[in-house]
Parts: sequence; C-alpha cells; structure tokens
Amino acid sequence: MAVDQVDWKKKYRELAHELERKERDSADAEQHLRQLSSYMAIALEGENPQLDSEISTLKSLLQEPAGENIGFLKKISRRVEKQIQNREDLRTKNVRQIVQSLLRWVRMLRTQVQNAGSQNLLDALERRSNEVEEKIYELPSVLSELIELQSHIETGTEDNHEISESDFSLDTTASSEALGDEVRILLKRIGAELLELISGLFVPKEETPNARELVKRIEQGFELPHLAEIVHQVVQLVIKATSNTSEDFENYLLELSSRLTEVQTFVADSREEQQAVGKHQRELDIQVRRDVKNLHQTVKNTHDIGDLKKAVSQQLSGLVRAMDNFKRKEEERETRLQGRYEDLIGKVEQMEQETRKVKAHMEEERLRARTDPLTGLPNRAAYDEHLAQEYERWSRYRTPFSVVVADLDYFKRVNDTYGHLAGDKVLRLVAKVVTKIIRVTDFVARFGGEEFVVILPSTSVAEAEQAMDKLRQALQDSPFNFHGKPVGITMSFGVTEIREGDSLDDVFTRADEALYQAKEEGRNLVRIK
Ligand code: GH3
Ligand code: MG
Ligand code: MG
Repeated sequence: MAVDQVDWKKKYRELAHELERKERDSADAEQHLRQLSSYMAIALEGENPQLDSEISTLKSLLQEPAGENIGFLKKISRRVEKQIQNREDLRTKNVRQIVQSLLRWVRMLRTQVQNAGSQNLLDALERRSNEVEEKIYELPSVLSELIELQSHIETGTEDNHEISESDFSLDTTASSEALGDEVRILLKRIGAELLELISGLFVPKEETPNARELVKRIEQGFELPHLAEIVHQVVQLVIKATSNTSEDFENYLLELSSRLTEVQTFVADSREEQQAVGKHQRELDIQVRRDVKNLHQTVKNTHDIGDLKKAVSQQLSGLVRAMDNFKRKEEERETRLQGRYEDLIGKVEQMEQETRKVKAHMEEERLRARTDPLTGLPNRAAYDEHLAQEYERWSRYRTPFSVVVADLDYFKRVNDTYGHLAGDKVLRLVAKVVTKIIRVTDFVARFGGEEFVVILPSTSVAEAEQAMDKLRQALQDSPFNFHGKPVGITMSFGVTEIREGDSLDDVFTRADEALYQAKEEGRNLVRIK
C-alpha cells in the first residue's frame, strides 16, 4: 500500500505541474494575442469613425471577459470574407482587362513605328503596362506616354518623342481628310482601345455622367483634330478613377474591424476556458482530499487485513479514475484550444498582412492626394498644409516667411497656337525650371491652371523678390522651342511677407494683388506688396 500511495502522490504532483505549465503557456499565448490586437487597434485608430467605434469596443472587451455571440460573429465574418473575395476578383479582372488593352495598344503601335528609339520606348511601355497589374497608380503615366507616342506617329514626328525643350509641340491641325483612310481606320482602333480602357475603370459616381458622355462621343467616331482632346479627357478620367478609392478603402477598413472583433471573441472565449480549468483543478483537489481522508478513515476503522485491502484498493481505483477523468478532459481541452489558437494565429497574421497593405495604400493615397498629376509638383492641398505649418511656426517663434503667387504670361496663346498638349508640356517644363532654381528649403506648388505658389521660409520680402527675379530671368532664358522656332515663355510674380495680424488668406491675397500689379505693368515682372 505504501508503494501505491507514493505512486499516486507522484502521479498527482506530475499532473499538477503539467497543468500549471499548460496554464502558463495559455496565459502567455493569450497575453501575446491581446497585445497584438491592441497594437493593431492602435494602428487602425483615427482612420474612420465606424472603425474607431469598433476599436473602442474591442479595447474595452480586451480588458474584461466578454460573452459575445460567437455564432453570429462567425456568420458575419464569413459573409465579409466572401465580399472581399468577390470584390478582389472583380478588381483583378478589371485591371487585367486594362493591361490587355494597353498591351494591344503597344502591339498596334509597334506596327506603326520604324525607328529604334520608338521601339525601345515601346519595349519599356510594354514592361510597364504589365506592371500596371501590380501598380495601378502607374496607369495614368503609362497612358500619357502611349498617347504621346501615338500623337507623334500621327504627325510623323516619332523621332522626337522624348520630353525636351526642343519638342513640346503637337500638330493637331492636320485633318484626317488629308491623311486618308489609313488614319480613319487607325482612329477607329484607338477609339476601340479607349472604350475598352474606360470599361475597365472603377469610375467614381460623380464622374459617371462625364464618362458616359465621353463614351458616346468616342462611339460616334471622331476626327483627328479632336483626338488630343479626347485622350486628354480619358486621362483625366483614369486619374480620377484610380485615385478615388476612398469608398473601397472604407469598406476595407470595415472588414478589418470585423476581423478584429472575431479575434477578440476568440481571446475572450479561451480565457473562459482557462477559468474552467481552474475550476476543474479545484474540484479534483477537493475530491483527492476527500478520498485521502476516507482512506485514512478506512485504515483506522478496518481491522481485518483482507477487508482493508479490498476497501483501500476500491478507494484507490476510484481516485485513479477521477484523475484519469481529469486528465482526459484536460487533454481534450488542450487539443481544442490548440486548434483554436492555431486558427487565431493564422487570422492574426492575415490581419497583420492586411494592415500592412492598407498602410502602404494609405501612404500612396496620401501622397497622390497632395500631388499634381501633370507636373508632379505638390498641389493646392499640399500648399494649404505647408502654409499652415509655416504660419504656425511664425505664430510661435516669429520666424518670417514670404509667399509668392506666380502666373504664366499669355498662356492662353500658347494653348491656342500650339495645342493643349503642348501647353501641358510647357507646364511640366516650367515646373522643372522652377524646381531647379529655387532652394531645397523653399516650397513650390502648382496652385491650379498656369498658376504656381512658392513659400520661402526665413526669407524677407526683399530677399524673396531677389530670388524670384532670378527665377523670372531663368524662365525667360529657357530655350522653349516649337519646331526649332523659339517661343517666349515668361512669368509674372507677386511677392509678400507675413505680417502682424495676417490671416492665412491675407498673406495669399496680398501676394495675388502684387501679381496683378506685375501683370498690369506689362508682365514678366516681379512686384512686391
Ligand atoms: P495672363 O498673362 O494675363 O495670365 O494671360 P493668360 O493667357 O495666361 O491668362 P488666362 O487666365 O486668360 O488664361 C489662362 C490659360 O491657361 C487658360 C487655359 O487655356 C490655360 N491653362 C490652364 N490650365 C491649363 C492646363 O492644365 N493645361 C494647359 N495646357 N493649359 C492650361
Ligand atoms: Mg496667365
Ligand atoms: Mg492664371
């Protein structure tokens, strides 16, 4: 009996240790998962109000045990997953269609160009078209280049497709009559490609009427002089369609938040299980104590060795059964928990991946929302943000700064004489010159149309005037040419410095008034106010 008792004690101790270890592991795993959930919750906070409210619920749930309706949540989660899948499939299909159209366009252009330079450009465009599947934001620039090359082919200037100061021109005056049937066939094919391209876009709701109008116009057929304008409109549509993904993005976040809720439910659930283990352990403990007490009692009260043996052996086997039972239950629980943890870890990893993707996407969107697609310069929204920062610094430390509003002179004439695409090219070249001339600490943005704004930090109005005069001179001296003939491009500037009592608008208005004066006094001038 002594040996039996020792074995039994040992067995009990081992079991208790094992249980303790498992509990520690579970607690570790749970802690780890709670932490991950909190990190992810923090990472996603502030993105949209609905998600924020989910996150705050999640946070409070993470602090206390919750008895959520798991079945319901799982149902939602499955539905959401299906939704993501459907949309992803549709998106992939659309983007593939776009890529196919681009590739067909490249193939078509190959049959039209002879020189090696253009063929090389087409090689690059083919490669980039393939990349559009992964980088949809490349689409507008690939498209612009294809269109540009196309236009050069039509006007027989394919040698000079590179953006250079000596070639910003487009001859859009040739009529398709003069160029014959070939051109008409070509225009039809381009039209078909453009239609296919539009059909593959996620056109934002507010753009749908424009898109319909455009499709109608292309379907009805158009003449060569209108090609430039039509492709310009298509590019604008593409830019809008590829940058307006906010609704998509919101759905994406909502899906993420529903996953977060699911993770939370798992965590709460496994904690409940763990509490149940504690209860089982206490029950076992009570039973063991009771059985041991009985055993003592039996030993004390039984005098016949045969009866004693029988009674002890009966009680011992009862004890062993209770322990086996406990162990079996524990093992079952362990297996169940293991499965769920693995499932959960998988889900958490998936969430991490999605979060990374969303973050990258957000960064891209943020950048795109602050960039002017034509020139690549910061846009008006970026200017507003930058000005507000500079103003804030000035309010605190009284560090002066100057603001410049600049506008191209007689730019309408450039468009009227050489065409809109040529005008666009001039705008890109001007942006290049400005960026080259100003200091790296200065900030330049395309405010809109042919108007630019510059913010010069720690610069007085007199210094800013000097800097702008240098820029004015540089632009005047830049060799803009149209088919070898020089074209004068000049700019007028209005300069002012921040003053006591100024609002953000005041400083801009004053610079604008100075610009007006520069225009009044003959243009190609810098005026201060
Ligand atoms: P001023 O010297 O008085 O500024 O004369 P302007 O012709 O430059 O001024 P106006 O405001 O009459 O015309 C501005 C023109 O700029 C009208 C429009 O054709 C052109 N423009 C504005 N935005 C763009 C653009 O994105 N691309 C092109 N190509 N032209 C643009
Ligand atoms: Mg102008
Ligand atoms: Mg203007």
